[in-house]
Amino acid sequence: MKKSLDRRNFLKLTATGAAGGLLAGSGNLHASPNIAPQKSGEIIHRTLGRTGMRLPVVNLGVMRVDNPRIVNMALDGGMTLLDTAHGYQNGRNEEMLGKLLKERSRDSFYIATKVNPRDQNLTVDEFIGQFEISLERLQMDYVDILYLHAQSSREGTLNDNYLTALTKLREQGRTRFIGVTTHSNEPEVIRAAVESKEYDVVCPSYNFRMDNLPDIKQAVKEAADAGLGVIAMKTMAGAYWDRERQDPINTKAALKYALQNEHIHTSIPGVTAFHELEENFEVNTDISISNEEIQDLRLEQAEAGMFCFGCEKCIDQCRENLPVPDIMRSYMYAYGYRDLALARSTMDSLSLAGDACGSCSSCNVQCVQGFNVAEKIRDIDRIRQIPSDFLT
Ligand code: SF4
Ligand code: SF4
Repeated sequence: MKKSLDRRNFLKLTATGAAGGLLAGSGNLHASPNIAPQKSGEIIHRTLGRTGMRLPVVNLGVMRVDNPRIVNMALDGGMTLLDTAHGYQNGRNEEMLGKLLKERSRDSFYIATKVNPRDQNLTVDEFIGQFEISLERLQMDYVDILYLHAQSSREGTLNDNYLTALTKLREQGRTRFIGVTTHSNEPEVIRAAVESKEYDVVCPSYNFRMDNLPDIKQAVKEAADAGLGVIAMKTMAGAYWDRERQDPINTKAALKYALQNEHIHTSIPGVTAFHELEENFEVNTDISISNEEIQDLRLEQAEAGMFCFGCEKCIDQCRENLPVPDIMRSYMYAYGYRDLALARSTMDSLSLAGDACGSCSSCNVQCVQGFNVAEKIRDIDRIRQIPSDFLT
């Protein structure tokens, strides 16, 4: 069995500088994309499509990180891509990264951020303006990937204003590459990204629990074959099977499962604790998945758990056309991740009127997962009554 890098040993390594050796080809990442084939114990790297970026198969989703030491530990342990967004922690996430990354050479890491124009119909200048705020917070001249965030349709992915803004910023060198992220209706978004001939990267939800996984896999292959880089998110499928957090998902197995697909070039699981990062370090050197781990994923049981597939089949059924998948994502943030601030900011971004299900005496929605959608909505909707400053 492969020896894990426990925290004490890891800190010892970093103190002596030996962890630098874990960074295959460390130094100027941008100038040295090729890294020797993996030997036992070495970090596994894949190439992010035509971007040419050589990345460890597991990187860091910074979304919920509020301890800079976690970011430093991730970079010192060989992860090279940091994934943030304009909206994470109301901008504090980018600010934290800006402060700590000043201490590092700009060519020793990659950074991705996102603009989420949800229902705002941003003009080209407004989109660029939001990104400029991100650059200021990050204290950088450029990012490596700028995403149009959280798209769920071909129309949104090919929106003229957003593509114009993204390509203009790429031409100006303020982002090296452009991409699109998607939590629902992923195959349509991925295929639209390929169709555009502009996007360099797609970042879809991808995990063992998605009912449309065969179609997502096919779309991901089409994207990779067309030269796009593919970055998987939401690989842990909500982290728990139950609302009470008594039944955890084997998240290491879940991550390995996603990485069995060679067209997934890297992943950006979010972490909040050192032990989670250690687990991800282990996966970075060994993605082989055992029968026991497969069994842990309960692939045959089709348990509902807390992960909404994002299939959108409920939206037309709902009398109020509520953005049910986004509300379910907020529910997962609250009960799966125990991140109330993120759950609240997700709910706020939806601009829901009053009491979300208040006008309905009975619910029409038949969720493909068997979720009691109205019950979950009423449950999570209470979070909008809590003053935001209690949650930050
Ligand atoms: S109860 Fe809520 S989810 Fe169900 S139909 Fe009414 S508004 Fe939609
Ligand atoms: S709530 Fe159910 S039907 Fe609606 S998107 Fe999620 S999994 Fe699909």
